[in-house]
Order: sequence, then C-alpha cells, then structure tokens
Amino acid sequence: MKSSNQILVVGSSNTDMVLQVPRIPAPGETILGSHFFIVAGGKGANQAVAAARTGAEVTFVTCVGDDAFGRQAIENYRKDGIDTDFIKVQPGTHTGVALINVSDDGENSISVASGANNHLLASDMEGMAEAFKGAKIVLAQLETPLETIERVAQLAESNGIPFILNPAPATELRDGLLEKVSILTPNETEAALLTGRKEAKEGDLGAIADELLGKGVKTVIITLGSKGVYLRDSQHREMIPGYTVQAVDTTAAGDVFNGSLAAALAAGQAIREAIDFAQRAAAISVTRRGAQPSAPFLHEVVNSLF
Ligand code: ATP
Repeated sequence: MKSSNQILVVGSSNTDMVLQVPRIPAPGETILGSHFFIVAGGKGANQAVAAARTGAEVTFVTCVGDDAFGRQAIENYRKDGIDTDFIKVQPGTHTGVALINVSDDGENSISVASGANNHLLASDMEGMAEAFKGAKIVLAQLETPLETIERVAQLAESNGIPFILNPAPATELRDGLLEKVSILTPNETEAALLTGRKEAKEGDLGAIADELLGKGVKTVIITLGSKGVYLRDSQHREMIPGYTVQAVDTTAAGDVFNGSLAAALAAGQAIREAIDFAQRAAAISVTRRGAQPSAPFLHEVVNSLF
C-alpha cells in the first residue's frame, strides 16, 4: 500500500568522482588534490534520496547503463527505501559520470558525461502511468532530455499533480513548459538565464520573480546559497535568510533543498514552513562532504539546533 506522502522524482543518475583540491583549477592549470572518493550523485538521484531520507515515499524514474555503476546506484536507492521499479537500464551506454572538484573553502566545479541519462526518453513516460498514480508531488530537473521533462510536466498537469521544476543545470526552456510549473526553484544563475539576463543581482530578484510568474509559474523560489531564498507567489514576496553553518562542501545543496522541499510539501506543510525545513536540511548537507552522503535524515532536520 502506498502512503499519502508519495513523490515521483524524474531525473538523472550519476556516479560522482570527487577530488578534494586546495582551490578550483583555472583553465589549463593542474592542481594536486588531497583526497579522492567515488559517491552516488546526479541531480535526480540526489533529490530522490534527499526526499526519501526526509520522510517521503519516493518513486524514482531514471536511466542507467548496464554496468557496475548502474547496478550499484540501483542498490543504493533501494537501501534508501526508494521504489526502483521504473528505472530504465540502457545497454550499450555508460551510467552518467560527474567529475567534481571540491575546494578547501567549500566551492565546487563539476563536469558531466550524461551517458544513459540521455536515453530517458519522452516515449518512456507513456509506460509510467502507475508511477504517477498516487503521487502528491512530481519533481524534476534538467539533466535528462528536455522533451522528457516537457512530457513529465504534461502528465503531472493532466493527473492534477503539483509539478516542481528545479531548472538546473541552467538551460533555456521552450514556451509552454513554465506555465505547467507549480514551483520553480532556480538558483541565481538559472533565474538570470530564464529571464534573459547576464546575472541576477539582489535588487533584481523581485523583477525576475515577477517575470517568471508572468510566464505562468505559480510559485518562484530563487535559491541564493548561504543567503537563503527569495520567495514569490500570489501571497509572498520576500527574502528568507538561510542558516549559518561552517560549509565544507556545497555540492548538492540545491538538490537537498529541492528533495526536502518536496518531502515537506507532500507531508502537508505550507510553503513558508516547507522552505524552512528545506533550508535546514540544505544547511546540514553543506557541513558534510559528497552529494548523496551529505543528505540528512528526517530526525536530523527536525532536531537541528539552528
Ligand atoms: P548546488 O549547485 O551547489 O547544488 P545550487 O546553486 O543549486 O547549489 P544554492 O542556492 O547554492 O543552490 O543552495 C540551495 C540552498 O541551500 C540555499 O537556498 C540555502 O538554503 C542552502 N545553502 C547553500 N549553501 C549554503 C551555505 N553555505 N550555508 C547555509 N546554507 C546553504
């Protein structure tokens, strides 16, 4: 029996190769790192895991290669209690891989070989009616083909399910997608791109959010790193500060924010309350290394002493 706080996450699954370096290398530069580790990542997977750990019943739709990385990823999702029945395994390609530099002051730079993620097709969504059934929230990002995400948005709309889109990595979107988005969660770079700007200055956030609402988005949450978020919907127009912590690795802060936000909303929290929950979870995650390993569990968020 499925529970009432069910979430469907559609997105990428990657294996992250992480190097700890003194600083992010400049183009052409070689830097000697101090540590190397392999962890499960990918925005879709990170968000699915963050949502599952913070109390949601998660079904994850993704595509992995028929290789050791893919098998390991599926095993990891199962350990987090995620329903993996709808995961596609694509022979002849590799599971997505990300090369991540994390600097000693907590910054990161990431390059990705998408591999199997590019094989999660819009047509695959036709066989997913069961995955949408009962979902309180559908959550997606942009590391899989855009046509697939557009189909997911249509299916969320036709099933009457709120659709959260984390428009990352920064990608231009075709008309018609944004009007199906219930909650859009860009960071500053993504918010700037989606509104045709070079950058999003703090003084521009209100105008940017208004423009996104004008394109049909119901709620805009612009994430601002350690500064918190800017929330705009029909009732709110405000900065909500983040929590002050000692950051060691900000990789996946946005993913933990999105996964926990979806979990809190699926559990019935109102938007302001859900944002507070998600900011607590994301703040905890930046105090830890790695993508999925850094995602906190429900009791840690609830008991956080910020
Ligand atoms: P990433 O690409 O690193 O996953 P992002 O750019 O998508 O992140 P951010 O805006 O950096 O997303 O972070 C999302 C949320 O995480 C912020 O709104 C904030 O709540 C929290 N957060 C991020 N960095 C910090 C930090 N250094 N200290 C406290 N909270 C943070």
